Amino acid sequence: MAIILDGKTIAKKLEAELAAYSRIREIRLDVILVGDNLASATYVRNKHRAAERVGMQSVIHTLPVHTKSEEIEQLIEELNSNEEVDGILLQLPLPEQLNSEKLLDSIHPMKDVDVFHPENAGLAYLGRPRIWPCTPSGILRLLHEHEIDIVGKHAVVVGRSNIVGKPMAALLQHANATVTVCHRMTKRLQDFTRQADILVVAAGSPGLIGKDDIKPGAVVIDVGSEFVNGKLTGDVRFAEVEPIASAITPVPGGVGPLTIASLLSNTVRLASLRRGWAN
Ligand code: ADP
Repeated sequence: MAIILDGKTIAKKLEAELAAYSRIREIRLDVILVGDNLASATYVRNKHRAAERVGMQSVIHTLPVHTKSEEIEQLIEELNSNEEVDGILLQLPLPEQLNSEKLLDSIHPMKDVDVFHPENAGLAYLGRPRIWPCTPSGILRLLHEHEIDIVGKHAVVVGRSNIVGKPMAALLQHANATVTVCHRMTKRLQDFTRQADILVVAAGSPGLIGKDDIKPGAVVIDVGSEFVNGKLTGDVRFAEVEPIASAITPVPGGVGPLTIASLLSNTVRLASLRRGWAN
């Protein structure tokens, strides 16, 4: 029987900390949503609601699917130079006519709450983070709150995306774990996952990891959240893995809520740095 790593409860605790911050009402997060991707619209709504719960200002800019790149660049430019805006989030994926990399690079690094700007990513990888990307930092908080020791442990990360896998591996290394990264081209994935004391699965492949893929007693973190037959489904087969893991995140209610709470705390952190508030 594993401990269930309940992200909802810890996200609530984090939100309460943020709500208690004296300057929270001065802080503003702007989210740009292009097109009508249903999942993206849901994520954006959840972020907006969370911001409102803690008392942070949140503005959503909804643009039609055929919006030209120049129009988005112009909006980003306005938000970059607006002193009241502390965080800018460009919701991905973008419609295919748009170049995500170019647009993400145009977000001012001091307002880049997702850590997509090379300057912020570079600083984080050098061990001098302004902030860490939201999902990895939420996962670290989850481990920390459950007093799960990371130092010297073998952490295996499945996935190497810029938003989750790569920064997760960097952050675990920063926290003194020994880290292995696996990806789509990894041969004999199971040989690696079975060695993990801490296994983080961010492959976007529903049900990829089963009971034969983990070491008994492992801590299993499931970042997967794909809709399968209308049901949010993780990368880990929870029912068969839970009895042999020592701790495991559910989907939904595990990593997801913490990602959103981390987004708010990243916004507060960048606001404090940019505005020169002690924090
Ligand atoms: P996320 O946003 O959750 O990180 P992405 O779809 O951007 O998801 O990235 C998926 C990552 O997972 C990629 O790095 C890919 O190589 C890896 N991956 C996908 N399927 C498998 C698999 N079957 N085995 C190992 N790694 C996988």
